Amino acid sequence: MSRVRLLSDTLASQVAAGEVIERPASVVKELVENSIDAQAQAIEVMIRRGGISLIRVTDDGIGMDRDDALLCLERHATSKIRTAADLATVGTLGFRGEALPSIASVARFRLTTREKEAVAGTEVIVSGGRIETVRDGGEAPGTQVEVRSLFYNLPARRKFLRSENTETRNIEHQLNLQAIAHPGIGFSLVRDERVVFQLPAAKTLRDRIRDLMGNELLARLLEVEPAEGELRVRGFVGQAGVSRASRAQQFVFVNGRAVENPVIGAALKEGYHTALMKGQFPVTFLFVELPPAEVDVNVHPAKREVRFRDPVGVREAVVTAIRKTLESDRSSWQEQFRAPSVPEIPLVRRAEPVPPSNHVAQPNFPVEIGGLATTGDRFSPNEERRPVGEHHFRILGILNKLYVLMENAEGLVLVDQHAAHERILFEELRRRMEEKGVPSQRLLLPQVIELAPRDAEWIERNLPTLQKMGLGVEEFGRHTFKLESLPPFLSGTEPARLLQDVIDSLKSASNSSSPLRLGEEMIAKTVCRHAVKANDLLRQPEVEKLILDLLDCELPYCCPHGRPTMIQISLGELEKKFGRKM
Ligand code: ADP
Ligand code: MG
Repeated sequence: MSRVRLLSDTLASQVAAGEVIERPASVVKELVENSIDAQAQAIEVMIRRGGISLIRVTDDGIGMDRDDALLCLERHATSKIRTAADLATVGTLGFRGEALPSIASVARFRLTTREKEAVAGTEVIVSGGRIETVRDGGEAPGTQVEVRSLFYNLPARRKFLRSENTETRNIEHQLNLQAIAHPGIGFSLVRDERVVFQLPAAKTLRDRIRDLMGNELLARLLEVEPAEGELRVRGFVGQAGVSRASRAQQFVFVNGRAVENPVIGAALKEGYHTALMKGQFPVTFLFVELPPAEVDVNVHPAKREVRFRDPVGVREAVVTAIRKTLESDRSSWQEQFRAPSVPEIPLVRRAEPVPPSNHVAQPNFPVEIGGLATTGDRFSPNEERRPVGEHHFRILGILNKLYVLMENAEGLVLVDQHAAHERILFEELRRRMEEKGVPSQRLLLPQVIELAPRDAEWIERNLPTLQKMGLGVEEFGRHTFKLESLPPFLSGTEPARLLQDVIDSLKSASNSSSPLRLGEEMIAKTVCRHAVKANDLLRQPEVEKLILDLLDCELPYCCPHGRPTMIQISLGELEKKFGRKM
């Protein structure tokens, strides 16, 4: 008895819908992409109850005639590709001809559409995949799709929907993506009769980001310097130290299409490297553009994923772009300390007699901290904001034995002296490592250390890097090593513990890294930590030198773990806080 049967069209669509339409946000994505492909200038989205009860997308695009309005509801009906060759060079967001029939099979669906010159439009009503009504419609030119009671005929699916708020957030995120990818198109979102946002068509990506995210974020973004070539990376990325706990603001587009791509995700991390806190994600509005033949967009039914022909090339381009952009920001940062104008009245009055810690304290005994020269007197704030080197700032004091308080032309600056020192030391050691290796000092008593087999194997593999880092390690029998020398600033550390620390913190980081990168990780994760102590009291010339050295760093504004080294509080912000200005 034969058992194989063809599925009915409706059922086949519902099966396909399972992949394309996961949740209300996928409906919004598909409909908005159709509007963009139809050359819309303005797209309005209206949702009720998280899109579960209603999603309506209205555009002013080219519209459809009656034949197309009916045909577009058939599976695999598309105007966007014809041949396999077209598939390789597809320039539209859609091409699979699946979205409309899928949506129509799992909801109550209404389409009204009209071409620009047509006297009348068409209205089609579909319920659960069955066409119920076709008639003339009188709407404005363009297309409107209404999707009600999503998954009403698939209770199992409906159960998987999250709360209205979560679904709304997903929809908003989806629209954010589209709005960023297409600044030239106006977008609006109305949720339960309330306007969530209304974005006018923008001239530039910068304008669109401002309209969508506000000036505050924009001020902390850097424009990627576009590099010429077949593979281009452009857009905006957060300054060093700007990050989020999730990927919610990591917007990445490949040829105008929002994607989630592990290659690019990893490249972003690598590009930020020490400018990113552990477990944090960068803020990016990044566009990767490359010839269509170099990227396969037909990997995932919802086209969220792409595959590159040359992933290494893409990775490299993104890493380089991010690095260059972050470093180019240094001069503008230094500029803040070079500003010539000096306000008349000092911002902060000198504190009263030496208070206990937790206040602006003047250190009363000098302590040396690794790597900083110690000269001169106890700390006493200089009276004038005088040029220090070529910089203009005035050091006011030290708060809680940790934060250096400074005044510059913009206002108040707080420097975390510990983070600052870590950054300085990190860059110095990296420079030395790249040049000829970190100098090393013989231990009086070489230490013989036995390691677990797996750790031993790791050490063997990375011996050259360790030696460049000033750790004089040698093999000394099976799973046993002799540690003969250390960099001078580590001489106080217990060698066996240091070595174990190096292994523990680097093993996970090193599986794919280059020796250079491994060296950097090592400095950032272990060497710095062992070298710098918190709560060290600095004398005034040391503080000055610390600040100057910091300003000379490649990435002065964050420590090697991505935490900020300095916080600027502008006069404007202070005025606001004191209610002098609204
Ligand atoms: P695809 O976008 O992959 O072609 P869809 O099912 O999303 O498949 O849409 C089918 C077709 O319907 C599209 O190719 C397009 O010709 C037409 N269409 C869909 N939405 C619109 C719209 N908003 N304006 C004009 N035409 C549209
Ligand atoms: Mg489509």
